[in-house]
Amino acid sequence: MKRDFDVVIVGGGVSGCALLWTLSQYTDLKKIALVEREKNLAKVSSNAKANSQTIHDGAIETNYTAQKARKVKFAAEKIRRYALNKNLQNKVIFEMQKMAIGVGDKECAFITKRHEEFQEIYPGLTFFDKAKLKEIEPKIILEEHGLDRPDNVVGSGFESYWCGMNFELLSENFVEEAMALNSSNHVFFNFKVGRIEPCMDEWAVISTEGDEIYAKFVLVNAGSYSLPLAQSMGYGLDLGCLPVAGSFYFVPNLLRGKVYTVQNPKLPFAALHGDPDVWIKGKTRLGPTALAMPKLERHKTSCLRGISWELIKMDCNTDVASIVFDLFTERDIRNYVFKNMVFELPYIGKRKFLKDARKIIPSLSLSDLQYAAGFGEVRPQVLDRTKKKLELGERKIVTHKGVTFNMTPSPGATSCLENALKDAKEITQYLGAHLDLERFYEELSPEELG
Ligand SMILES: Cc1cc2nc3c(=O)[nH]c(=O)nc-3n(C[C@H](O)[C@H](O)[C@H](O)COP(=O)(O)OP(=O)(O)OC[C@H]3O[C@@H](n4cnc5c(N)ncnc54)[C@H](O)[C@@H]3O)c2cc1C
Repeated sequence: MKRDFDVVIVGGGVSGCALLWTLSQYTDLKKIALVEREKNLAKVSSNAKANSQTIHDGAIETNYTAQKARKVKFAAEKIRRYALNKNLQNKVIFEMQKMAIGVGDKECAFITKRHEEFQEIYPGLTFFDKAKLKEIEPKIILEEHGLDRPDNVVGSGFESYWCGMNFELLSENFVEEAMALNSSNHVFFNFKVGRIEPCMDEWAVISTEGDEIYAKFVLVNAGSYSLPLAQSMGYGLDLGCLPVAGSFYFVPNLLRGKVYTVQNPKLPFAALHGDPDVWIKGKTRLGPTALAMPKLERHKTSCLRGISWELIKMDCNTDVASIVFDLFTERDIRNYVFKNMVFELPYIGKRKFLKDARKIIPSLSLSDLQYAAGFGEVRPQVLDRTKKKLELGERKIVTHKGVTFNMTPSPGATSCLENALKDAKEITQYLGAHLDLERFYEELSPEELG
């Protein structure tokens, strides 16, 4: 077995796989290993069952400011181009309609104003009035008896867009391509990293079974477990984690495309949306819900047996307690948390969810709704103990010692190539290797070349 590598990537989700491909395609590094705890790639957040399968480019995500939208647009463009360049249409990437809708006068005014502002960022972004919506996405207008819902509804979006993605298959494609590029690459499955220790001028990456491999640079993309691994080495001690699980309900194919709703600005998580499933044909996912739980991953074990002791170790301190307490003092957040707890309950949960889901599909009936058991995952939201606040989005712990840790809550899958580029810059600089930045941009984001 090969044991010495230039780079070892810990974690075979979409972030780790994207980095393996980026290093193989655009650098002169020859010996790269990917280690994954499971026996296959993308079995956690990047799995087809886990997420909303959306390339979040900011056009319809009403929780993104214009500034954030400009940033994620470039990240989204990179995976979109990757998939189109590799001819992965209708296997990995899917084209469909997408829109953000406002329901009622206040929300309609919001969508109208947002549309005007965002048109400049997204050429071709189209405004839909109620009549047009009835034509292109009838179920968001029609009530049970075929009459139009009484409130005004407007939308902003695209009638056709490459915006659906199976991130599990994308992960597999990255690795296939990386292996074809470089025969010295190696993927280790069933390798759960227990420790990363300095060893001469390298790092020893040691599995819980005692296997060891060595690298000059270690990049940890272990999802929820990146922070516990960092803290076990004395890094990232100023951070904590608030795991927020997201579940879905299935409905039959009632929507033709993605339908997103207006965000309550006081809430840290995206408002309810509808996403036609790109994996299970004939179903649409509604969700995700947002349930805080003491687990770093959702489906490993059930109930209290699944409590993550790594999390308790990270979060048992007064800073984290005070951040969570502050969040709970906000009435909207408190109500939202309780409502989302109820969504998970048998019998009553479905009924409560139906009320919210009818904002998107007013004719929806109880029999249309099915709790998507075994779907969804945990969003490991980062808590900044110094700033005493919940951070939205990704976070990186750079040690400048040849080991870096990424935490990648949503939209981490969309940003996988953007993050891989940042990592590739850091790794090549540290190792004195070459990164063909110009070719990266030419192939994946020519707009950024100016
Ligand atoms: C409900 C929900 C909906 C979402 N919807 C979207 C969406 O529509 N669009 C979007 O862009 N993002 C979405 N996200 C976020 C997205 O799923 C994640 O940001 C992304 O999948 C993170 O990828 P990753 O590779 O960093 O982590 P993961 O996919 O979690 O991969 C981490 C890997 O590390 C491995 N690992 C962990 N510990 C170890 C160890 N000790 N040793 C070896 N291996 C280890 C795990 O087995 C796993 O394979 C959603 C997330 C959730 C929860």
